[in-house]
Amino acid sequence: MGYKYVFGPVHSGRLGLSLGLDLVGDAICSLDCIYCEVGKTTCLTTERKAYVPAADILAELADWKTRAPQHPDFVTLGGQGEPTLNSEMGAVIHGVKKLFPNTPVAVLTNSTLFYDEDVRTELLEADVILPSIDTLVPAEMRHVNRQHASLDVHKLTSGLLAFKKQFTGKIYLEVLLVKGVNDSDENRTLLREFIAELRPDRVDVVTMTRPGTMRAASPVSAEQLSLWKKELSSAASADADCQHTVACRNAQDILEDDGETDLENGRELPLPTAMELILNSVSRRPQTAPQLATALEIALHVVDEALLQLEKDNQILFRLEGDDKFFSAVRE
Ligand code: SF4
Repeated sequence: MGYKYVFGPVHSGRLGLSLGLDLVGDAICSLDCIYCEVGKTTCLTTERKAYVPAADILAELADWKTRAPQHPDFVTLGGQGEPTLNSEMGAVIHGVKKLFPNTPVAVLTNSTLFYDEDVRTELLEADVILPSIDTLVPAEMRHVNRQHASLDVHKLTSGLLAFKKQFTGKIYLEVLLVKGVNDSDENRTLLREFIAELRPDRVDVVTMTRPGTMRAASPVSAEQLSLWKKELSSAASADADCQHTVACRNAQDILEDDGETDLENGRELPLPTAMELILNSVSRRPQTAPQLATALEIALHVVDEALLQLEKDNQILFRLEGDDKFFSAVRE
């Protein structure tokens, strides 16, 4: 069975073996980030709706469970847009807990809907929340996140602080830096003050490593990342991490490079199975062959063969970024 809403599991630096759930099924988001790997937000909204019914997601997950080759360390709610926009998110979290009673649930979110009491209440049942905030400077937010007109910096920060007061699980905050856009001293100072108040369990400072919506968006240097890590981690309650990672926060813990790996050590899957997994993965964000091999744990030569066949079938295309070929699905 091909899945529309279940993807992975793949290895993630922060969550281990993570099985992803797509809660919106399309590029539906309250932000339109310039670095988004999914592409331009097609529906910019803060309206909560059952974009994908919980029953459909849980039916796929139940089927996946009957065929699962391995048990995931986490089930992670994310997807091609903002998962908290799904008004049935609470039912999804509850359903996941019933299907996988011993597996923690993580939620990747862009932090924009914490002002909504229903969202905060639904998220209380999760075990780890991974919110992201890129900037607390209003002009920078308009530039990097291009948010829905009803949103502003204060709505994000006050909502997240209110949630922290109620939540007993872990909070891993992420900040993504784009060169010349949100890497200002002003932003660093404001974030440091906010993090000191929020006291998340972990802070990740990341930059882009894959193509985003805008070609002009580019990563900051390793020195910059290091400086930000030092400052923001000292303000947090736990050790922070600093790494180059994927550019879509909703993808990060579902698809993340895990450092040095022998790319031929992955699974020798039958070609149709590899093609299905790869197509599912690149339909969410562009990736190179080594990134796919690492994330999906498929031997690189099998990935190469599957990519070749998918190209011949006109199901994928690629874009060159420097020497790297980033594959993405052909959108209908
Ligand atoms: S990067 Fe994430 S938050 Fe930003 S537009 Fe893409 S899906 Fe939405």
